[in-house]
This record gives sequence, C-alpha cells and structure tokens, in this order.
Amino acid sequence: MINIAIDGPAGAGKSTVARAIAKDYGYIYVDTGALYRALAYKAINNGIDVKDEINVTRMLGSTKLDITYTEKGQRIILDGEDISDSIRTAQISMGASDISALPFVREWLLDMQKDIARKNDCIMDGRDIGTTILPDAEIKIFLTASVEERANRRYKELVAKGESITLEAVIEDVKTRDYNDSHRAVSPLKKADDAIEVDTTNLDFGQTVNTIKEIIDTHIGGEK
Ligand code: C5P
Repeated sequence: MINIAIDGPAGAGKSTVARAIAKDYGYIYVDTGALYRALAYKAINNGIDVKDEINVTRMLGSTKLDITYTEKGQRIILDGEDISDSIRTAQISMGASDISALPFVREWLLDMQKDIARKNDCIMDGRDIGTTILPDAEIKIFLTASVEERANRRYKELVAKGESITLEAVIEDVKTRDYNDSHRAVSPLKKADDAIEVDTTNLDFGQTVNTIKEIIDTHIGGEK
C-alpha cells in the first residue's frame, strides 16, 4: 500500500489539496481531524466539557465511531448517525483542538487510523501522521503558510457557509489552535525529520497541488 502523510497547522490547505490528489491518484483521502471533531461534537452536544478527562473517558466508553467511504468521500458515522456535515463550525474546531490534547483520546483513535492505512492506498492528513500514526509512510509532506494567510482562508470558508464571525476572531482561533496543537504533551504538531516542507503562503491551489504531485512522482515514480 502507498501511504502519503500530510501534516501541518490549521488552514494550511491540507484537506483541499489532499482531496484533489487522492482523486487524481485513485487513493482514498483520510481526514483525521474529522475524528477529533466528531468526538468534540458529541461532547459539546451532551454538555460534556472537552477538557474534563473523567467525563470524556466515560463518553468514549459508550461511543462508536466509524469512517466509511462513499461517492461523497469520507463520511464519519458517530453512534450510527452520519454527522460529517455538522462538524465544520468554529466551535467544533476549538473543541477538537482541546479534546485532541487528551492522551487517551489520541490512543482511542490510533488503531482506526493505522488500520485504514494498512488496508488502502491513502493520503492521510492531520497533525501527527508522519510522526506517530504512519512513521513509515512512503511520502511525508509538511504543509505550512503564514498565520494571516491561513486565517484569511478559514475566514472565507466560514463566511461562505453563513457563519457570522470576524477575521480578527479567526486569527485568534488559528493562533490558539497552533499553540495548543504544537504544545500538547502527546503527539504535538511537529514536522517529521523526513518530511518535505511546502510553504503555501504565496501559492494558489493549483500551484500547491502541482508542487505536491511533483514530490509524489519523484518518490514513487509517477505510479498512478
Ligand atoms: O484538521 P482539523 O482542523 O479538522 O483538525 C481539528 C483539530 O483536531 C486540530 O486543531 C487538532 O487539534 C486536532 N487534530 C489532531 N491530530 C490530527 C488531526 C487533528 O490533534 N491528526
């Protein structure tokens, strides 16, 4: 199986780029952030504080999380219900960042992620894919961009979805998530030693996709 790991901070463009590449190469695209988002969604909807270790542990005991792949791409099934379209809000983003800092939450999601990669050619994005989940991935990319550029992209996405939010609030959210993601004790956001860094601050979508395709083709000889 070919496994490609894409890590990087929020808003660097990982998901749009990974989705496009997966389509071109016939791989599945695995968005691991959605798993943390799903758990944050359940906690928030049940009035559970995402930093409350005891209650989050209890919640996991009665949680069933599955990933499936349909013509709509990856779907997240939480306790039998497809919640994929409900986890992209600013509130869930912050909740996911907090819940993902709990070591037992990361542990709980570990096998699911490894298992998908074992069974499928995939491009998997997240924060710890190259360092922890798939340390032996054939290709590791670390996608970055300036805080301002990343916040600006996220802001446009949220506004397009009808959320009322200011750019300043999104910049603050991005900074907080960057800090949380790179300072947590377990599996912090970190470039793997053997990852190739791509800075997308001044690259548009097409240029970013082409840069990554060149990296992939160089490493795996353009297999399609
Ligand atoms: O990528 P996305 O923005 O959907 O991720 C939501 C949050 O989930 C991130 O801010 C991060 O804290 C967490 N996450 C993580 N490890 C991953 C993917 C996401 O800790 N592999």
